[in-house]
Amino acid sequence: MKAQLRAGVVARESHPEDEEEGRSIPKQAKRCFAAVDEKGWAIATSPYSYNGSASEFAARFHDEWKRLREDVVAGRLDVIVCYRADRLTREQEAWHGFLKDCQRCNVKIYITANKRLYDLSITSDKTELWRAGQAAAEYTSTMSDTVTDGHAEAAELGRPSGMKPLGYERVYKEEKGKLKLVTQKIVEDDAELVREIVRRVGNGDVIANMIRDLEERGIKPPRAEHWGYGTIRAIASNPMYAAIRKYRGQEYKGNWPEIVTRKEWEKACEVLAGRKRSGERIGRFASLLSAIMRCAECDAPIRVHRESYACKAQTCVKAPVAAVDKEIVRDVVAWLSESDRIGWFLQADEAAANAARREVTELHERLEAAVIAYSHGNIDIEDLSAVRRKVGPMIKAAEKRAAEAATPPALRVFEGTFGNFAAVWARWQEISLAARRETVKAVTESVVLHTTRAKGRDLQDRIEITWKEAR
Ligand SMILES: [Zn+2]
Repeated sequence: MKAQLRAGVVARESHPEDEEEGRSIPKQAKRCFAAVDEKGWAIATSPYSYNGSASEFAARFHDEWKRLREDVVAGRLDVIVCYRADRLTREQEAWHGFLKDCQRCNVKIYITANKRLYDLSITSDKTELWRAGQAAAEYTSTMSDTVTDGHAEAAELGRPSGMKPLGYERVYKEEKGKLKLVTQKIVEDDAELVREIVRRVGNGDVIANMIRDLEERGIKPPRAEHWGYGTIRAIASNPMYAAIRKYRGQEYKGNWPEIVTRKEWEKACEVLAGRKRSGERIGRFASLLSAIMRCAECDAPIRVHRESYACKAQTCVKAPVAAVDKEIVRDVVAWLSESDRIGWFLQADEAAANAARREVTELHERLEAAVIAYSHGNIDIEDLSAVRRKVGPMIKAAEKRAAEAATPPALRVFEGTFGNFAAVWARWQEISLAARRETVKAVTESVVLHTTRAKGRDLQDRIEITWKEAR
């Protein structure tokens, strides 16, 4: 004889329409108990019932939800019975984790609304439940907006708003009979992931690599199955993580704890805005030489297409990415290992920065001289204005050049490794792909890929590097 299934009943009130349609908790529970009876299952424990305030955020919910999840993992249940999937939770991340637990522990879910038993080891069943949870999450986000009506006031109080971001859980309180979002708390595991993403973006890590890495580690993004560029960008640039509340362009101090520092958040935003010296959007390219190497035949920039470097037409040249990168890396590292080179690059930049700084000082002096001349009555106000209009932009331009030249150039990362092949090599391994690309661009005039027809099969002969030379 088959063992009797142990059932856990969930009764929860959350939709306003439930009340209208007479599906209050007792009625939901009644239907669930009737189903358990009908199926010949055994009631394993007291019902998981979330009553009181019509919200998933009430303390009662947390306790009951916790109890349910613990019972699933502990193997105390075989089947969960509830009126509808969205009775369980409206938290998307929690929902996903819950379904995974149920699958792992072989706990089925019975929905009384459509009288169906869902087996999570069956993909279509899992997908259906997954979607039901998603729809519920969307419903909640609209509900939260109504709940936080009075956005301006909330902003001034530094209260959070909008969709709940990864890494936080919301804290609600009843005010004047209405449920209000008052603040948010850190969920440590998720917060650690947020920190990683913000820092990696700030360090110029390539987004494509980050996505691959997260997927390989089996980490899921909030409210979706797979990571995308948009998700990474949204997380890395969200001011909420630095406890900043934005409202109509105005910044308010958030009343919740920060997950990253303001500096870390700003750094990530800066990288995403592509405000790097090279003008290249860090994170855009997933391989070392994309758009740096050119085709010897048609001069088009080389891109990656299915693990191969190929020119845009994909007809002239083609070579495997890994093999080409290996060649280039060896050449670049060897080149950098020659002791006089890096010093020269660094000096050149320092000299350029100093020249620009001197120019700024001189321009300021000119402007001051004009002001003195005006105060002595030697020139009139129109002349002074004319000088200002002319010199002002020149000062700005020189200041910009000074700042740019003073920015540590790509090669600064190799400081201390001059003249030592092993040390340069070790440093190369440590730096991000973005930094490696900057390095290649800093030391070469051009990298050209020739066809096998022109140069033979040997890759070494097909890659033509023109190194930068002292000006
Ligand atoms: Zn070509």
